[in-house]
Amino acid sequence: METLRLKINEEDIERAGGIIKEGGLVAFPTETVYGLGADALNAEAVKLVYAAKGRPSDNPMIVHIADIEGLDELAQNISDYARALMEAFWPGPITFVLPKKALVPDTTTGGLDTVAVRMPSNETARKLIRAAKRPIAAPSANISGRPSPTTAEDVLEDMDGRIEAVLMGESCKVGIESTVLDCTGDVPTVLRPGFVTKEMLEEALGSEVAIDAHLLEKPETVLDPEEGAAEADFSPKSPGMKYKHYAPKARVRIVENDVDRYKAEAEASGIRTAVLDYGKNSEEAAYSFFADLRRLDREGIGLILVCALDEEGLGFSIMNRMLKSAGYDVIE
Ligand code: AMP
Ligand code: MG
Repeated sequence: METLRLKINEEDIERAGGIIKEGGLVAFPTETVYGLGADALNAEAVKLVYAAKGRPSDNPMIVHIADIEGLDELAQNISDYARALMEAFWPGPITFVLPKKALVPDTTTGGLDTVAVRMPSNETARKLIRAAKRPIAAPSANISGRPSPTTAEDVLEDMDGRIEAVLMGESCKVGIESTVLDCTGDVPTVLRPGFVTKEMLEEALGSEVAIDAHLLEKPETVLDPEEGAAEADFSPKSPGMKYKHYAPKARVRIVENDVDRYKAEAEASGIRTAVLDYGKNSEEAAYSFFADLRRLDREGIGLILVCALDEEGLGFSIMNRMLKSAGYDVIE
């Protein structure tokens, strides 16, 4: 199929909304990364998203809403702390995992009885949801396993010819995916760290927020998304955790010290090597990391050495992406 390049104007956003309403797929900008959107309430449309991405069917979608009124048809038994955090951080880069309502198809939630919901702040995303007149299920608009796209060009690199349209917006301001927060227990638990950090959540709430244990250790198994949905012997709360993620074609290694020495050694053995060093600037690292991985692939680099970040605040979230992109290969 020919993928339409749509502009960011009322007419084209309306057209994109129409495509979603009819069960088609449209990639669109959000403040985090580009999303690949389908009607969240249409199981057939959502199946097309899994197929276009090569995403295992047990890795659920985040459902995007434009207004708080959209929440009640999707989720139920929403706790007071979840409401308080929505008040504090929505619209914005945080997703809440909540008990789902029957209207949400199992296909959208990967068979779970919970649904992940986010209200993005990006204006184009909000206009698109309103134009479609329904919630939009949207994972990142990349082939599964590859770095998430933060520009319209990066979306086309993976999705050209596979989806109906791309809304050709600007590059994403945040640059890493939303924080995913499980709100089904007594204590909110971070399942995926993002721009909204544990410290920010605790400050807004005035009480403790937990970090899922899987985020604090190197996983024993990392599955290839190409193999499809996995067996149930390893089932983290957030199914996405068990799959290989964010990997460019180049080999990626995290380096804690002496990056110049490792670069020189690799180049001496004929490997084209690049260094990504964001210093202490974690916002810059979030904004640039995925885009840099894709750029270095286009340049034909063989080895990317990434300087480790301090794992404080936002640094923890970016190191999570860096470690995954490197397959946890760290030179200490
Ligand atoms: P992406 O769509 O690429 O941003 O990834 C969405 C992330 O949210 C994946 O890691 C999913 O596993 C996670 N997720 C989505 N829905 C749920 C849910 N109901 N419970 C737990 N994690 C979820
Ligand atoms: Mg993704």
